[in-house]
Amino acid sequence: MDLFTVMRRQEVAILLKKEFSKWQQEQEWVSIEEALGRVLAADLVSEENIPPFRRSTVDGYALRAADTTGCSDSLPAFLQMLGETRMGEGTDLVVQAEQAVYVPTGGIVPVGADAVCMIEYTENFQDEISIQRPMSQLENLIEVGDDVSIGECVLQKGSRIETQHIGAIAALGRNRVLVKKRIKIAILSTGDELVGPGHPLKLGQIRDSNTDALRAMVISLGCEVVMADRILDQFDALQSGLQKAVDESDLVLISGGSSVGTLDMTPDIINSLGEPGILVHGVAIKPGKPTMVAKVQNKAVFGLPGHPASCLIAYKAIVEPFIQETLLAESIREFPLTAVADFQIHVSSGRDVFYMVQIQENEGQWIAKPVHGKSGMVSLLSKADGYIEIPMEKEGVQRGEKISVHRF
Ligand code: AMP
Ligand code: MG
Repeated sequence: MDLFTVMRRQEVAILLKKEFSKWQQEQEWVSIEEALGRVLAADLVSEENIPPFRRSTVDGYALRAADTTGCSDSLPAFLQMLGETRMGEGTDLVVQAEQAVYVPTGGIVPVGADAVCMIEYTENFQDEISIQRPMSQLENLIEVGDDVSIGECVLQKGSRIETQHIGAIAALGRNRVLVKKRIKIAILSTGDELVGPGHPLKLGQIRDSNTDALRAMVISLGCEVVMADRILDQFDALQSGLQKAVDESDLVLISGGSSVGTLDMTPDIINSLGEPGILVHGVAIKPGKPTMVAKVQNKAVFGLPGHPASCLIAYKAIVEPFIQETLLAESIREFPLTAVADFQIHVSSGRDVFYMVQIQENEGQWIAKPVHGKSGMVSLLSKADGYIEIPMEKEGVQRGEKISVHRF
């Protein structure tokens, strides 16, 4: 006898989305040290320009590009040496026609200069500098806000803060971020036969592995476990345990007691706690068919099968997407993912090349676009969703090629 009206998991997801469409996860400020893995509750908008001043990307001489027109090894341009700028310090120096100022990599480029000539193409004669290469305007310098400008959204609401974002948050001068509060989870494992790890096992008893496995699963999503109890197959114990779980958490996971049997009274108990109660009893997944989905007192309750593998598969197939998509409204990406290259690059550096990419979904397919910039740029990391690797044996990437995108 099949008492289940099984539903496909996609239908379950839609049903859950509808039931919990009004769910608004609360927000909190967390320090940057605690931000990893949390989901942003608001767009992260820059209040600062990066860089905050014009910076040199090389060790060299800040000058006016026009003063170097046509110069070469045999016919260098001679400029008056005005002085130098130092790391971490401002400068009052102003570069005028036929003058130059020494600037270290990352140092401030004085007013009046519009390019920096690498030291390799210069020669120092005490008060004069010879320049052996013609420079073009803005060569070897980064303008104020070139990397990130004031008002720019660096990371969107709903993004999970990954390792590569932490440096960008710090670079914006933020030592805290507004994130969604952790989802509170209660885990109830049911069964008269269950014994926790660390306790002796009598004949007929079974180790409870679901409690700890589910705890690890939800913690890896950034959730907080507020209750984790083993409960006997007794109506009153189950009912009071479930009531406590519903009161204290946002989401309840019950494992065991989901199949049809004399001791399996979980559905009745869930229904006794409030409307609408059980929404789904049976999902078309293998393993994991006897999975229950319920809503009581505005909380989601999931009845997962007791068999450990079925329990975890049902969790991955039904619960995890619900937590991420509906409760956290998170923009989700599974890595490594296969994307189609929307670019073409040729590399021949004799090294394994790592290339940062952004990914976008288009008609059910991921499209990867390159993220351009100099390796000193913070935005390179915050804009990148991941990276690809081009081994040195390969010559590059063809447009339309399938590539594997890794997360940081
Ligand atoms: P049930 O869903 O309660 O009918 O349980 C199905 C099977 O899974 C039974 O063999 C149980 O002993 C086993 N089981 C139930 N809960 C757990 C648990 N927490 N850890 C390991 N096995 C379990
Ligand atoms: Mg049981």
